[in-house]
Amino acid sequence: MAWTIRGRTGEWELVCGLEIHAQVISKAKLFSGAATSFGAEPNTQVSPIDAGMPGMLPVLNGFCVEQAVKTGLALDAEINKVSIFERKNYFYPDLPQGYQISQYQHPIVGRGRVLLDLPDGTTKAIGITRLHLEQDAGKSLHGAREGVTLVDLNRCGVALMEIVTEPDIRAPEEAVLFLKKLRSLLRYVGTCDGNMEEGSLRCDANVSVRRLGETRLGTRCEIKNVNSMRFVAKAIEYEARRQVELLENGGIVEQETRLFDAAKGETRPMRSKEEAHDYRYFPDPDLLPLELDDALVARLRAELPELPDAKKARFVREYGLSAYDAGVLVAERAAADYFEAVARGRDPKQAANWVINELFGALAKRGLDIEACPLPPEALGELLDLLAEGRISGKIAKEVFHEAFESGARPRAIVEARGLEQVTDVGAIEPIVDKLLADNPAQVANARKNPKVVGWFVGQVMKATGGRANPELVNDLLRKKLGLG
Ligand code: ADP
Ligand code: MG
Repeated sequence: MAWTIRGRTGEWELVCGLEIHAQVISKAKLFSGAATSFGAEPNTQVSPIDAGMPGMLPVLNGFCVEQAVKTGLALDAEINKVSIFERKNYFYPDLPQGYQISQYQHPIVGRGRVLLDLPDGTTKAIGITRLHLEQDAGKSLHGAREGVTLVDLNRCGVALMEIVTEPDIRAPEEAVLFLKKLRSLLRYVGTCDGNMEEGSLRCDANVSVRRLGETRLGTRCEIKNVNSMRFVAKAIEYEARRQVELLENGGIVEQETRLFDAAKGETRPMRSKEEAHDYRYFPDPDLLPLELDDALVARLRAELPELPDAKKARFVREYGLSAYDAGVLVAERAAADYFEAVARGRDPKQAANWVINELFGALAKRGLDIEACPLPPEALGELLDLLAEGRISGKIAKEVFHEAFESGARPRAIVEARGLEQVTDVGAIEPIVDKLLADNPAQVANARKNPKVVGWFVGQVMKATGGRANPELVNDLLRKKLGLG
């Protein structure tokens, strides 16, 4: 994606890499059996291990390990047969252990890649540097009660996957496309729900700039916790422009951590490199190196669903859809399944149009996910059958669609109950046509000179029949009666 910043002294290029924290879908925490459900009463999901009680021993949750491996496979990444849990030492009130168990030198997943479909129809690969497993910290609640800070340890010890990308991103929109694609992959494999509002997907963006043509990397700043898709692009663009202005005015970029202020739309310093922590990583003596055997990795690979890229290619090949439409349909696995259920035995392009335009439109209007869709795919299929059988017109079909979506009634039942079937009976239409011609002699004369005027008559008949007359039949009848052959 060609995206540059035109400064006073020339053109600049953005260089950006992302660090994403994805909360693992798992009933229990990474090293304890405590529950992980969102929104529970504070401090009700805390085991002595999570609370950092003396003498407690962490026990690795095998399911979380499998989730990380599945994610690694979906990222087309190397799975490391041996990985090591280390202690990352720092003090914070919401971290009772005094350290976070993480992976550092030897992560469970190594290099991989994610393919982005760019708006111009090309694809771009974003390199994945690594994925490692770590514990989440608790939550400090400032201001919940006057003068004190409260600590909720429910989140303490929940499994996170930290996913780090190569500095391959060159435009703010690419960062958004990457996050959307990553979220789609995570949801396909069922390892993270991708919910940014609830914090199950959190993103830090590393940003630097360099003159166009320069191959060395510039000094970067890290923007912490940009917690919505909308703000990711804004934060990156603001930061890149800030750095260009700084450099063009003879300044230098200090490597630092910055915060994005969504209300002001700007980033501001949080801590400098000098204040950066020395975490004194060392292998956790309570945990053995994690060894994966080939059979486990092979089983998890075999359990993977068809992933979005493969599904998209199949939709183009099998159903003749455009790459764009296929891309829209496969973003959510449930939407892709819905489409396939409608398309089975029907015209797939028509099915895709109805799902993308009418269904997605109606869902967006009501703020619903495809999972909560009130119209089952069989019902939409029934509507398309009514259309294909010529029993309703396209215009009526849209009406029936909305009624079915709102009421949950089946399209056939709606058409029957409201008498919406297309009128294809000449005997029913002819009297309407005759009366119209008799009432409008001037338009009849016009139509004989200019056949386009026939369209006006067709419109009148449709109006008179509530859109139910078969338009082709009306057209034929009118032309015959007007002597237009
Ligand atoms: P750290 O562990 O200190 O955060 P890393 O080298 O692991 O540092 O890099 C973290 C992230 O920063 C990665 O996503 C990487 O792609 C990105 N990154 C590294 N160098 C640069 C740079 N010069 N400009 C932009 N992003 C960078
Ligand atoms: Mg970092």
